[in-house]
Amino acid sequence: MTELDVDLFVIGAGSGGVRAARIAAGYGAKVVVAEEFRVGGTCVIRGCVPKKLMVYASRFHDELEDAKGFGWTVPAPSFDWPSLVAAKETEISRLSGIYRANLDKAGVAILDTRAEVEDAHHVRLVADGRRVSARYILVATGGRPVLEPDIPGRDLAITSNEVFDLPELPRRMLIVGGGYIAVEFASIFARLGTEVTLAARAANVLRGFDETMREGVRDALERAGVAFKFGTLPARIERTAEGLAVTLTSGASLTVDQVMVATGRHPHTKGLGLEKAGVALDATGGVRVDSFSRSNVDSIYAVGDVTNRVALTPVAIREGHAFADTVFGGKPTMVDHTGIPTAVFTTPELGTVGLTEEEARDAYDIVDIYSASFRPLKATLSGRQDKTLMKIVVDGASDRVLGVHILGDDAGEMAQLLGIAVKLGARKADFDATMALHPTSAEELVTMRTRTARYQRTPT
Ligand code: FAD
Ligand code: NDP
Repeated sequence: MTELDVDLFVIGAGSGGVRAARIAAGYGAKVVVAEEFRVGGTCVIRGCVPKKLMVYASRFHDELEDAKGFGWTVPAPSFDWPSLVAAKETEISRLSGIYRANLDKAGVAILDTRAEVEDAHHVRLVADGRRVSARYILVATGGRPVLEPDIPGRDLAITSNEVFDLPELPRRMLIVGGGYIAVEFASIFARLGTEVTLAARAANVLRGFDETMREGVRDALERAGVAFKFGTLPARIERTAEGLAVTLTSGASLTVDQVMVATGRHPHTKGLGLEKAGVALDATGGVRVDSFSRSNVDSIYAVGDVTNRVALTPVAIREGHAFADTVFGGKPTMVDHTGIPTAVFTTPELGTVGLTEEEARDAYDIVDIYSASFRPLKATLSGRQDKTLMKIVVDGASDRVLGVHILGDDAGEMAQLLGIAVKLGARKADFDATMALHPTSAEELVTMRTRTARYQRTPT
């Protein structure tokens, strides 16, 4: 092979691409990364980070209300959306700058342009048409929001891409979808003062999560003022003098200031040239990869959301790192996609790791359930009605903890730590043998002695 321009060309400077580029450069590879939007990717610019900042902003609503129960007199609070958007922008710009500086320090060249694949070893820079040859190409282009259903007036709706920079706080908002993004933003906007309606095709939110927790999230959102329209989707959106007039499939109609569609995300591979290079894609455009993130073309790898595995930041980072270890570090590394802890940042939040009760009952002969529902200590004085829910799912035959699900304050923090125990194969007896830490909500996890239910599969 003639001499190539670089060892590695990374397309996309998001969570997965940045990690892969830095680690590969650390192994001595000559690396460039192309980014068409902003360095940092979805998580930093219009995902996890600004979302969590907005979650914090929304929670002051509850804190200010709760303060009264603890003796505080709080003057009528007011909230200024443009101030939050500006503060958020300052922080994500700072983070994006750190990502750039870290790439720089690692010796990775950043190209601020869209890049498209030409063949197994060539990438074209859209900004100036330059062609770069590379020993390896890493596709780390992430995902993009899917706007479903395809209805008249769909272009009047926004997605999570636009929601972080709305010029003003919507007074009325329709959120379409019942997944992570829909419920997180319903929780945020309802607390910031928006009248939120959530329309979803299913009968409840958060398909795939533990049923008890799904009900808990729905009830908590209802208490926060979210109006649900289940089994219903928009059929038409029209702009009128009063706002956006939405007709629903149920025949009902409502007028809102914004419609936000959160009906999932698809891999961002449109127009990327992968088919031309012979790379096999799945039905939604995801790059098909093996356990080492390699596509069917030997020199082209893919990591993160673009592979349609698990669309979470830490997973993209781990895959990017494993790719660099495998290809440039001489350490073939596979990523274990089991037992990934995750949180849905509603208020209260849902933290979870491992199997749901339903998944366990499908897969195991005997499943024991330990569950608790209680008002957290803080609520005794604040008067808040939200209950903390906890569920431990156990393999009745081996006593191994298969899953833990928590709806309550700091559930995400708990799920992260529980992830270690579940990964280590902890048994329910190990939870029981652990001393409680009092007074916390988490202590309930080691004091649930009485089984709530046992499900035994009857032999067929
Ligand atoms: P991305 O971070 O999306 O990076 C891909 C990059 O590639 C982008 O910067 C894009 O501009 C660039 N790009 C695309 N095509 C090209 C091209 N042809 N040329 C050059 N550049 C290109 N995950 C969590 O773990 N926790 C959360 O709380 C969480 N919250 C989220 C909230 C929202 C609203 C959203 C949308 C996502 C959230 N996620 C969360 C998911 C998380 O953001 C993604 O899983 C993660 O960013 C995936 O990383 P990635 O590297 O695969 O892709
Ligand atoms: P999700 O996959 O979580 O939810 C998609 C929602 O859209 C579901 O309610 C689904 O309905 C609905 N839907 C899908 N297709 C259609 C359709 N054709 N018509 C109507 N409704 C439809 O996707 P999100 O967009 O909320 O988030 C994307 C991903 O980003 C998440 O899966 C997650 O991996 C990641 N993320 C992680 C976060 C975190 O870690 N806290 C936060 C935000 C995003 P149904 O239930 O019926 O299938």
